[in-house]
Amino acid sequence: MKRSIKDIEVSGKNVLLRLDFNVPMNYETGEIYDNTRILESLATINYLCDSGAKVIICSHLGRPKGKVDKKFSLAPVADKLAMLVKNKVTFATDTVGSDAKQKISQMENGDIVVLENLRFDSGEEENSPAFAKKLASLADIYVNDAFGTAHRKHASTYGVAKLLPNAVGFLISKELKIIGQILSNPNRPLVAVLGGAKISDKIPVIENLLDKADYILIGGGMAYTFVKAKGGKVGKSLVDEEKISLCKKFLDLSKDKRAEIVLPIDNICNIDFDSTNKPRRFLSNQIDDNYMGLDIGPKTIKLFKKYIKNAGTIIWNGPMGVFENSVYARGTNKIAKYVAKAKGFSFIGGGDSASAVVKSGYGKKVNHLSTGGGASLSLLEGKTLPGIEIISDEGTELVFKNETTKSSKKAHTKKTSFTKKEGTKSLTTNKKQTSKKTAPKKKVSQKVKAKKES
Ligand code: AMP
Repeated sequence: MKRSIKDIEVSGKNVLLRLDFNVPMNYETGEIYDNTRILESLATINYLCDSGAKVIICSHLGRPKGKVDKKFSLAPVADKLAMLVKNKVTFATDTVGSDAKQKISQMENGDIVVLENLRFDSGEEENSPAFAKKLASLADIYVNDAFGTAHRKHASTYGVAKLLPNAVGFLISKELKIIGQILSNPNRPLVAVLGGAKISDKIPVIENLLDKADYILIGGGMAYTFVKAKGGKVGKSLVDEEKISLCKKFLDLSKDKRAEIVLPIDNICNIDFDSTNKPRRFLSNQIDDNYMGLDIGPKTIKLFKKYIKNAGTIIWNGPMGVFENSVYARGTNKIAKYVAKAKGFSFIGGGDSASAVVKSGYGKKVNHLSTGGGASLSLLEGKTLPGIEIISDEGTELVFKNETTKSSKKAHTKKTSFTKKEGTKSLTTNKKQTSKKTAPKKKVSQKVKAKKES
């Protein structure tokens, strides 16, 4: 278990909070299409503000590639945040420069400063020690709650965590708890539904789930490499020739391993992606040479439904067809509906499957929509995430840069003998601290001229 923000006394401290504010946005107008990521971060933001911290939020947005590009500015996100919290929100027009420093110096307990896009500095993605040091100089404590970027080893997700006392926020804690439970002790049968085009991305997931899941249902473009590995005729369908032998191996292994691999039995096909010809249905292993599979067919939908309906736990990652085109979206939409309505615990691994569920109107019915596609896939592969690994374990001694006393809430009351130390000075006494929580100020920023949402 990683140290949680609940284990740290944050009152009066500058807390650098890494969030995933990479929201879908019209970069020309600043219009935010979907503010789910902001809403998901509110529990941690409000907790820190209510606990009297000065909350310095940092995030990336889009792909500015290490250069200042105002169309990727986080200012519209700061505006949106100001509408959603009761605390003062100020936007800094740089990340570690004079504006950020000046605005941070004026903060009172409970205030929020949102820094400009981290990726305006090339040091962010390069995990530059110099950039990490500058970020660390802004704060006393680092909190990571950006699950969506926890698989990246960047300055704000990794480098800075090495330099400050640290903890994870509520969102990361929740994601780790749920994925951990699914992989270690799921309600069975555990059914994984995997789709999408890039089989190479899902190979490690399949490998890991062969021991853990009971059934692995494979749809989408990646299914045809498996069908071909079994000797089927797949026409012009997407096939990764280099992965055929590995798919054969998985199909053989699945006879001895826990999980059974279930492949499509029919497909909706056409001569190419954009053809206006009427689509045709073929059995999955008998696709005409001139056709390609673009969606799972009705028999497969029925077959997959049976497994999903009887599942104790369902993991879904990747669309069942070229769902961007409504002609080939039926399989994905049906699976979205069945997963959402299933009695088993449903987990959607972000990305396309999450947007398909939300688009189909079943988003609220799913038990857990992960906020990180890549990060949740890494965990399903059995990997650890650098942005989480670097955070201290629960119970580890907490030492601040310029202090000899610790502020770990647990450490106040427990006489625990700690095994790992961090920071520059170690602790010699374990006296109970009497820290006062400072009530946050309830005022709206002059700088962020956003009206409160009704
Ligand atoms: P991925 O990034 O690997 O999860 O793949 C997502 C993409 O897979 C989506 O853009 C789909 O259009 C694509 N996809 C799904 N099924 C097929 C298919 N049968 N043939 C080609 N692409 C597909």
